[in-house]
Amino acid sequence: MRKLRLILGDQLNSEHSWFQKTDENTLYVLAEMRQETDYVKHHIQKVVAFFLSMRNFYTHIKSKGHKSIYFEISDIENPQNLEKIISKCIEKYRIQKFEYQLPDEFRLDEELKKICSNLTIPSEAFDTEHFFTNRTELSEFFEGKKLLLMENFYRYMRKKHHILMDGSTPLGNQWNFDASNRKKYKGEVAVPSEKKFQKEVSEIVQQIREAEISTIGNIELNSFSWPTSREQSLEVVDYFCKNLLKHFGDYEDAMHTDEKFLFHSRLSFAMNSKMISPKEVIEIVISYYHKNESNITISQIEGFVRQILGWREYIRGIYWKEMPNYARMNVLNNTNKLPDFFWTGKTKMNCMSHAINQSLDDAYAHHIQRLMVIGNFTLLTQIHPDQVDAWYLGVYIDAIEWVELPNTRGMSQYADGGIIATKPYVSSGSYINKMSNNCAKCYYNVKDKFGEKACPFNTLYWNFLDEKKEYFKGNQRMGMMLNMLNKISPEELYKIKIKANEIIENMDSY
Ligand code: FAD
Ligand code: SF4
Repeated sequence: MRKLRLILGDQLNSEHSWFQKTDENTLYVLAEMRQETDYVKHHIQKVVAFFLSMRNFYTHIKSKGHKSIYFEISDIENPQNLEKIISKCIEKYRIQKFEYQLPDEFRLDEELKKICSNLTIPSEAFDTEHFFTNRTELSEFFEGKKLLLMENFYRYMRKKHHILMDGSTPLGNQWNFDASNRKKYKGEVAVPSEKKFQKEVSEIVQQIREAEISTIGNIELNSFSWPTSREQSLEVVDYFCKNLLKHFGDYEDAMHTDEKFLFHSRLSFAMNSKMISPKEVIEIVISYYHKNESNITISQIEGFVRQILGWREYIRGIYWKEMPNYARMNVLNNTNKLPDFFWTGKTKMNCMSHAINQSLDDAYAHHIQRLMVIGNFTLLTQIHPDQVDAWYLGVYIDAIEWVELPNTRGMSQYADGGIIATKPYVSSGSYINKMSNNCAKCYYNVKDKFGEKACPFNTLYWNFLDEKKEYFKGNQRMGMMLNMLNKISPEELYKIKIKANEIIENMDSY
């Protein structure tokens, strides 16, 4: 039977059982599509990374003897749309069965189900063989529970997969070393530069420009540094083990104006495109840890494993549990517009300037920049979550809806009413000052609330609490903050609100 097998751009798993043997009657298809480049405005580096990785994957499977076809974005024969590509291939190659791997995005899942229901030939969906969990495992784990705590899920995953365990006891006699993962970085140890590949990408960039794909952000044509093949992805894992793991946990939450990546692994794109799996990353890193235990403490490795085995799988489970309604949630009724500086990087707030310019230059910001600087600002200024989502989904190299949406709309913007976060991640300037060196070099004064140079976060924070106090009044974790709000005199609160509203109305002048 002649089969057509579809491979989406984030399904580049060459270890999948599909590729264990070759078959003359099986044809693989990969396609760069306007449908995917245009549903949100992506960062130029993200488009380049996906196209290059897809092309490398196609070359790889072809070299292994698998019959395959590829549509480049500029092929005149390219229908640019999933349904048309599938029907074109079925007709041209007289295909008798259509097969695909389950997409991770709700949008594509619905589309593929619809396409299959209209086909006159049989079709079948296969697992991607990438994640530790399937789509429903988290829902089953939390069945009947009100609180969907990540920590509980993470412990279950540790036990189930026997990762960092000594029998039924967690290694180091502690499940979580989060408390020791909050150091400020003061240059005590040197940060190795990121793993660089220095790839020349001018040709593919020209192709993208000629196709008139609208993108955001910047790119250096002769030093593209994201991994775009399985080999390069494994090199990044190796580099992480040898150079960064030793301090990963310690400085996980730190920010520094001279260090864009600190000790972060930069592995999210390699994993999200499925060039490497979370299981192999964890296995390689833990094996390195065991060989170097005299040099690396348990809190570094536990911190890393928690991100991948815990957060990554948890976020995926929440996505499939809550979609499609999740994408429309806005419990705080935020309606403001994102300021222009999200696209230009032009702001006097040093923390925002660094986090946004880095996002535009590198298609990357680490977790705390995304959560406690940019996300904190958009929540305090009460931006509509649709706008925040679209920006995050476009700008980051690793942004695919299943992982971007729950992190942004849920964890960062609290638009889901606390499904993920038990309280909103908001702070005044003091948190940013505690975890970074941004404030020391800022135009604004982190200690001031009202002067011309007062840190905008300070009044925005109290204004947000005041505006949303009705919503949060039953939330025990917000009790202390709301008590502090109550102690502010009416005169002071009035001044706070005047200043905060002036900031919100003129965000682009700050
Ligand atoms: P490291 O710090 O080295 O962490 C190792 C790995 O752990 C990451 O590669 C990632 O796969 C995983 N991980 C860590 N935290 C999370 C998390 N919260 N959710 C899922 N996986 C996690 N991650 C994405 O992959 N895509 C996104 O679109 C995305 N959007 C985010 C939006 C917001 C508002 C926030 C707060 C976080 C977001 N994250 C997203 C999670 C996290 O910021 C990135 O995974 C991380 O910064 C990627 O860099 P790294 O590979 O150097 O990570
Ligand atoms: Fe950011 Fe305020 Fe610090 Fe400036 S003073 S870097 S605006 S927190």
